[in-house]
Amino acid sequence: MIEDTIKKLSEGAPVEREEIVKILGDTSDEAMEVLRAAADSVRARAVGDEIHVRSLVEISNYCKKNCSYCGLRTNNTSLTRFRMTDDEILHVVKKEAARGRKTIVVQSGEDPNLKPDRVCKLIREIKDAADIAVTLSLGEYSREDYFRFREAGADRYLLKHETIDPELYAKLHPDCEYSNRIKCIEYLKEAGFQTGVGIMVGLPGQSLESIADDILFMKRIDADMAGIGPFIPSPDTPLAGGPTGDLRLTLNILAVTRLVMPYILLPATTALGTIHPEGQRLGFRFGANVIMVNATPPRMWENYTIYPNRLRPEADEKYQDRKLQLMIESIGRKISTGFGHSARREERG
Ligand code: SF4
Repeated sequence: MIEDTIKKLSEGAPVEREEIVKILGDTSDEAMEVLRAAADSVRARAVGDEIHVRSLVEISNYCKKNCSYCGLRTNNTSLTRFRMTDDEILHVVKKEAARGRKTIVVQSGEDPNLKPDRVCKLIREIKDAADIAVTLSLGEYSREDYFRFREAGADRYLLKHETIDPELYAKLHPDCEYSNRIKCIEYLKEAGFQTGVGIMVGLPGQSLESIADDILFMKRIDADMAGIGPFIPSPDTPLAGGPTGDLRLTLNILAVTRLVMPYILLPATTALGTIHPEGQRLGFRFGANVIMVNATPPRMWENYTIYPNRLRPEADEKYQDRKLQLMIESIGRKISTGFGHSARREERG
């Protein structure tokens, strides 16, 4: 019985991969409601009602890699490439801090111009400019570089593992090594980062079994954060024209992830909000407790196109903040005023 397995998960009991597969695959209204209620209750008990709002700044759309799902891939010549200067980035950081944001997520393609020295300098400048947590999402670097970024003051690092299935990983990433990806995640943890991993849901070749393995992997490495959003096919990529990831399956994965890792930071992703107008609100009801809001200057938006038709915030920031606040209050939750560090770490001390 699925209800019994969900109950077992809610109580922190270990479950088998096959049991997770069964829960993930049942997208009937009845089963999803049982799962949602369990995830919501575990979320409330473990991390409370607060939602952490992160400001995201996309500092460069240059990328040396060719991931087959991504619009920023180096072979995509239809983009105008841009890089923000440090001054432009710091302007955004100060503006976001002034509107009350306590985390800046600094994201980029794997830009050869982002040498470790420059990244360290930028982290220090951000920390000097504002009382703000810094999350980096800049891709693969060496172990030594990650230690340097941490020493410079960065708090968190997002590096999605994408899939724990080595064959699927190789198909999707013609110029990346699976073993290096896993090593990078281990280095980040070793360096003391609050470490985020994650997957896209609905990639061609992905199975419920491999998603169950992804969840068990995140648990095994004790991830602090997990970005889980639907795959949205991007034009000008080898996966253009394929089906979009399923909303209901994505919600089930969020809920199971919350049950398996009660303290994890779990975003209601922008991709979820892109495929369905209620996607992010639903994400919060299925266990999510983080939202990232785009703070990249609007003139750069059209060229930071990992996938098309991406949900973007309104240009008027006051209206944007009010709308977000109303959405969060409408589900009985509240915006956090703290840094939103990993609750799991605080819990463990
Ligand atoms: S997923 Fe990241 S590394 Fe891969 S092409 Fe896109 S930006 Fe580059």
